[in-house]
Amino acid sequence: MNSSCCRTTHPFDSIIPLPMSQSAARCQRSQASQFFNLAGRPGVISFGGGLPTAEGFPVDAIRAAADWVLEKEAERALQYSASAGEPELREALARWEAQKGVPTKAENIIICSGSQQGLDLIGNLFLEPGAKFLIERPTYMGALEAFELRGPNYVTLPSDEFGLNPDMMGEECRGARLAYVMPTFQNPTGLTISAERRRKLAEKAREYDFWIFEDNPYGELYYDEEPPLSMRAFAPERTITLNTMSKVLSPGLRLGYFLAPKHVIDVMERLKFALDLHTSTFTQLLTARCLEKGLMENHLPEVRQIYKMHAEVMLEALEESMPKHSEIRWTKPRGGMFIWLTLPKSIDAVELLERCLEAPEPVAFFPGIAFYATEKESNTVRLSFVTVTPERIRTGIRTIAECLKSMLKA
Ligand code: PMP
Repeated sequence: MNSSCCRTTHPFDSIIPLPMSQSAARCQRSQASQFFNLAGRPGVISFGGGLPTAEGFPVDAIRAAADWVLEKEAERALQYSASAGEPELREALARWEAQKGVPTKAENIIICSGSQQGLDLIGNLFLEPGAKFLIERPTYMGALEAFELRGPNYVTLPSDEFGLNPDMMGEECRGARLAYVMPTFQNPTGLTISAERRRKLAEKAREYDFWIFEDNPYGELYYDEEPPLSMRAFAPERTITLNTMSKVLSPGLRLGYFLAPKHVIDVMERLKFALDLHTSTFTQLLTARCLEKGLMENHLPEVRQIYKMHAEVMLEALEESMPKHSEIRWTKPRGGMFIWLTLPKSIDAVELLERCLEAPEPVAFFPGIAFYATEKESNTVRLSFVTVTPERIRTGIRTIAECLKSMLKA
């Protein structure tokens, strides 16, 4: 029989309309994912992604912990487990958090599968179409993607060159359910707000009766001085903090955790069950073992030094290469992974990116436009420095500066 005469479309290849939910329809392929693709092109000096440096992965400690777990706890590690998380991990994290100055018990902790899942869980807990939601401007684009699924009604939190400014918060906050904030080494600006501003934010939360959702993936990555205490120290009764092991251990392990009053953890536990039953038992036991073996005390100082060195190189390079212009400025982070660059209003950062990608040694970064829920600005840039070698940081910043100069002249 002639096979070509009978060829039909395979059922998997026929396209019929998908009866999507409204939230799935809102989850379009974002501008952010296009920037990610550009930043990841081979040969490009990329200040784009927010990846931690692989230099900082404690491979030996992870291997030793994995061997230990499989030798001593294989059956448990490979089995289903409780939604709130493994007791020894919750205990170890509670000890670490309490030692930093905020009283914490294991019952105040729930484990999640990376803090990105935590953002989704918060969306489940608080948001629905039209829910009033206070948000920083700019803010983490991955959070915007997670929150966008719920269609909230964003209200911008006021800020100045030092970050979020609670003195400027007023009646617009009334009726909000929660405020999403990153007080420490913010993504994307790198800014950290003072203890005084944290205290005032807590006062405003009480005055206008909203919850504070503090996302804190970078808090441990300070260069010299420890940042002020978590918002939990200032408003323990109404703060939910989200932390992650992504930047201190490894993002591939997908391990995050919430800190919150026990009654909130109880509700989250039910949501977590609905989302994915529990976070990988094996990963949790492995992380608990790493913590027991002194991961934070032994490994973090080294990671902090790597990040500090890269930040210093980029700040020096910016100082040396950027055109002197009253509208060009950048933040000077004291921890974390990001510098936020503001350009003259006439410059479109997407166009600057296009030019930088065409340079002999192409450079990528994230245009700031991806980081706004409201009133998007096109003249800002997020620079991520930790995965690029010092030499390539200098070359990359020189290229950005040259492209910028040519756009300013045109
Ligand atoms: N929150 C912020 C502010 C982030 O920058 C990131 C990742 N870069 C996340 C949450 C998600 O991190 P993870 O899921 O790896 O914990």
